[in-house]
Amino acid sequence: MCRHLAYVGPPLSLADLLSSPAHGLFTQSWAPRRQRHGTVNADGFGVGWYAEGDPVPARYRRAGPIWADRSFADVARVTSSRAVLAAVRSATSGMTPEESAAAPYAHGPWLFSHNGRVEGWPDALEILAASLPPARLLTLEAQVDSALLWALVLERLTAGDPAADALARVAADVRSVTGGRLNFLLTNGTSIAATAAGDTLCWRTVPGGVIVASEPFDDGPGWHDVPDNSVLTATNSHVDIRPIPVPGKEQTPS
Ligand code: GLN
Repeated sequence: MCRHLAYVGPPLSLADLLSSPAHGLFTQSWAPRRQRHGTVNADGFGVGWYAEGDPVPARYRRAGPIWADRSFADVARVTSSRAVLAAVRSATSGMTPEESAAAPYAHGPWLFSHNGRVEGWPDALEILAASLPPARLLTLEAQVDSALLWALVLERLTAGDPAADALARVAADVRSVTGGRLNFLLTNGTSIAATAAGDTLCWRTVPGGVIVASEPFDDGPGWHDVPDNSVLTATNSHVDIRPIPVPGKEQTPS
């Protein structure tokens, strides 16, 4: 299982968020504290962030471990942003080890990460894949469950679903056809949406901002656990958490 983190708030450096905290994503790549599946996260990493005045994020991704990339350490020290989404990867067996499979995935203003795995991949998702326009399948970023999940989420976003609804809907749709762990993380640079669906998720506020992460990056106060089977929306002033709807039990207008 991977570990991931998103932040929105006043500008912070990538190092402030990822490598300076005692148990930040950098340390979590070899010593995660709450990871339920897998041990190290050495099969790639990625960071997406937004430059001032540009709604389309930049990405830095590599197929190797974050601790081995001295150039990234330098970039992280001098790069600041109001919004960041980052992940370290433990590749699910049988899935491509390439850089293209390292989150975050991106499209327009969006950055997306998936922590988990789909059981029975790829056969189990054939029926959901068939619901996508062929162009979405032809432009999948990588041969990995996360890339197809991102395509399904993106289809919902493009149809106008709010971010949290898109994530909850895709998690519910996948669970209606197969099992799996489906912790998603999504940002457009101003708000964060996330699911807790099979693995750990927590959040905390910082002055003027909010962090959503697989696990706390320090032992300080203020971290809150998100209950399993929840979808979260966070801005720098508000956090909302609600259950992921169970398929077939959605409220219908009477
Ligand atoms: N299944 C995804 C992959 O192979 C995510 C893996 C994970 O969460 N460890 O990249």
